[in-house]
This record gives sequence, structure tokens and C-alpha cells, in this order.
Amino acid sequence: MQKILNYINGALVEPASKQYIDNVDPSTGKVYSLCPDSDAQDIEAAYKAAEAAFEGWSNTPAEKRSKVMLRIAELLEKNLDKFAEAETIDQGKPLWLSQNGEIPRAISNIHFFATAIEHYASEAHPMGEHAINYTTRTPIGVVGCISPWNLPLYLFTWKIAPAIASGNCVVAKPSEVTPMTAYLLSEICIEAGLPKGVLNIVHGLGPKVGSAMTVHPGIKAISFTGGTRTGAEIARVAAPMFKKLSLELGGKNPNMIFADCDFDKMLTETVRSSFLNQGEICLCGSRIFVERPIYEKFKKAFVEKVKAELVVGDPLDPKTKTGAIVSQMHFDKVLSYIELAKQEGGTILCGGKSIQPTGRCATGWFIEPTVIEGLAYDCRTNQEEIFGPVVTITPFDTEEEVLMMANSTEYGLASVLWTENLTRAHRLAGKIKAGIVWINCWLLRDLRTPFGGVKSSGVGREGGWEALRFFTEAKNVCIKIS
Ligand code: NAD
Repeated sequence: MQKILNYINGALVEPASKQYIDNVDPSTGKVYSLCPDSDAQDIEAAYKAAEAAFEGWSNTPAEKRSKVMLRIAELLEKNLDKFAEAETIDQGKPLWLSQNGEIPRAISNIHFFATAIEHYASEAHPMGEHAINYTTRTPIGVVGCISPWNLPLYLFTWKIAPAIASGNCVVAKPSEVTPMTAYLLSEICIEAGLPKGVLNIVHGLGPKVGSAMTVHPGIKAISFTGGTRTGAEIARVAAPMFKKLSLELGGKNPNMIFADCDFDKMLTETVRSSFLNQGEICLCGSRIFVERPIYEKFKKAFVEKVKAELVVGDPLDPKTKTGAIVSQMHFDKVLSYIELAKQEGGTILCGGKSIQPTGRCATGWFIEPTVIEGLAYDCRTNQEEIFGPVVTITPFDTEEEVLMMANSTEYGLASVLWTENLTRAHRLAGKIKAGIVWINCWLLRDLRTPFGGVKSSGVGREGGWEALRFFTEAKNVCIKIS
């Protein structure tokens, strides 16, 4: 059976304990590789390698750092098909999505920050003829990056790329649920000639490896994406050590659909924003609010489209639109929320059950895309993150009402508005409590824009200059000149 290895000090190595955990293909439910069960000893080795590399890497001109990162991006592109297949087997998403979404975006992340760093300049603030200030931005040192299982390589590279571009050395931990593509990336980093110790990837369980990173006094910043509860635990441990923290956490995003929207466009995008990647995207809209005059029309058309188009099955089959749920634990959690919705008085309009495909995937974890109506906006189903192929639909009568319902959860990551009324769109965009508002679109991403949420959806922003600022410290130098 294939063994995934840690990447420490430029080499692929076994965990100190020599212990491994099972890595499962969710489309079959079967173990297909082994993931290192690393611990604090491996984090210490990774930290030492990163610390030793820092002097050299932070003093390497940005142009040279950029060049080696661009080589990594090129090699990733050359191996796109291999990475896409690996991601699909590890995570359960359809192969076309890995080929056209996940892996191309990972390449873009690396390319984007490799080129951005060449344009990242210092600032100067002259004070008339008396004085001049200049502000430098220097890398922090050794930083930690921790990522989740839903978009494995996409979110992993979204963190490590700005961290190493800006001159830091990194100790990184991908999710133990989906470690494969981060492992394949470490092979590519070696081939590309990334100096040893600049990036170290330690695989293993969150409470062991992730918490060893959080408590390590030498790791000065943590960039984390994952669940709100884990984010709170990291903040609790890291805050008294004054670590810099970027926390990208859970969501329960509202879609607000007004009667004056472009119905056909809205319908197509709403199916996508509800169920892409099995609904396992932090930006998916899981609460759909529809203005009453078009509620019945929407309900009929939406349910018909979901039933007709979202073929559930083998992620490797090109016809599949909805793949496997990432793990047995997550599968059980999503099904338990469907049961809760029924207990809370919801009506299942379609889906609501697990599916057993025939053949290769007969033992995998699949759930039908599920649409539920008839629930109060403040019930648990409508307040807690499910993170699967489950959405609720709810009618509304006024702008005030939909805004109140949209803003009623503890989360505030993303939101979507569908209306052709420009004034209303801007008015609501200003009032929605979320870090991201999409108007008449969804998941349209420009990597320069700030990315992140408010309330329990997180602290800080990723993307563009925001990420480069996070991974650097500002120093102001003031010179009196007269
Ligand atoms: P998770 O919090 O369980 O795990 C995320 C990562 O943290 C994993 O690598 C895990 O091993 C590690 N971890 C677990 N316990 C830890 C600890 N005590 N200390 C340090 N690290 C620890 O999340 P998940 O189940 O992998 O991912 C799903 C969650 O991620 C959802 O809530 C989703 O909304 C969120 N998410 C948010 C964004 C965003 O950008 N805001 C993007 C994707 C996913």
C-alpha cells in the first residue's frame, strides 16, 4: 500500500513514530494509502529545518524566490491530470471538477503570489521638509499553515504561496482526511529546486500535529482554514503567545432571490452554488430566501433541475455531477442534519437519503442533493453549518425581513443577491453582515480581492496584498531631515 511521507528539510521522510493512519477513498469507503501519524517530534524537526533555512530564504531577492515558485507552478501544470485524479480519489469530488477547478486554481495561487511579490513595494511618507518616513515589510520567520479537506490543494497553496513568496519559511499541515495532493506537491518542490527547509509538510491528526504547531513558541504566525470550533481552540492557545492569526472558518451563507431577477440565470447559478463539490465549499449558499411572488415558480423549477441534472455517482465517471461525501464521519453528520430537519417540521422536496451506486462505488458514501422547505429561519437546521448537499428554501415578503433572516446566524462569510434593481443591490450589499457579497453571480473570484468572513466565520483576510501583509511585519523608520 502506498505510504505518504512527510517533507522535512528538503527530503521525504517517515514520521518519527513510524506510525501511520488509514487514508480512505470515499467513493469506495476503502483504505487505499497510509498517512503519517506524526507528532510533536516531527513538528520540532520541521521547525528546526525552517528556522535554519530562514536566513538564506528571507535574503534571497524576490525575483529569485519568484522563479523557483514559477517552476513549481509549471511542474504542477505539467502533471495536472495526475494531480486531478489523485484529488478526486482522495476527496470524492468529480474528476472534471478537479481538472477544471481545483488543480488549475492551485496553479493560479502559486503563479499569482510568485508574480505579486515582484511588485510588493515599501511605502514612504514625507512630512514636508522636516522628515521622511519609510515603512519596510519583512517576513515574520517560521510560520504555520493548516488547511481543511474540502478543497485540499486549492486551500493549501492559497496559504503556502504568499507565505514563501514573502520570504517566510513554512511548517504546513494539510488535512489528514485528504493528504495526497500535498504529498505529491512535496515531490514537485524537490524537483523544482525549492531550497531545503523553506517548506516543510507534516501530515497527521489535528489535535496532535496541528496543536503541536499552535503551541510551538518559534512558530510566530498561524494561517488556519477549517471549522469554527477548531479556530476558537487555536485562538485560545495562540493568543497569549501573541501569535499573528488568520482564521478562515465556517459559514451558513444566504442566497437572497428577488422577484425581479433574471430567473434563468439565477436558477442555473443557484443549483451550482447549492451543490458544487457536494455542497462542501465554505462559500456554498445553504439558505435560499425567495421573494414570495416567485416562490412557487422557483420551488418547482429548482427541484426539477436538481433532480434532472445532478447525477450522483462514481467521481471518475464524466457524467457524475455530485461525487462522494468525504468521510464516513461527515456522511453521518450530514444525514443526521436531514433527520433533524424532519424533526423540526421540514418537508423534504427532493433527496433526503443516502445512495448506494452499483459497481466500484457500492460501498462508498453518497447522499442525494437535498432540498427542504417549511423550516423557521431560526431553527438549528437553518442556523448550524451542515457543509453538505443540503439546502433549505424559505419565502420572504420584504427587504427588511430577508435581511434580518440572512443576518440571523453566528456566521458571516459569503452571501448572494439576485436582483436587477441596482439601487436595492447596493443598499443590501452595504447591510449584509458578510465578508463577501456576490450580486447576480457566485464564486466569481479575482485573487487580488480580500477573502474572509466576519463574526464566527473568522478573523483577517486572505488574497492579494492582504495575504502578503499578513505574512510580513511592518517597520517604520522616521528620519528628521531639517
Ligand atoms: P477542521 O477544523 O476539523 O480541520 C481543519 C484543519 O485543522 C485540519 O488540518 C485538522 O487536522 C486541523 N486541526 C484539527 N484540530 C486541530 C487543533 N486542535 N489544532 C490545530 N489544528 C487542528 O475542519 P475540516 O472539517 O477539515 O473542514 C471543514 C470546515 O472548514 C468547515 O467548517 C468549513 O466551513 C471550513 N472552511 C472554511 C473556509 C473559509 O475560507 N472560511 C474554506 C474551507 C473550509
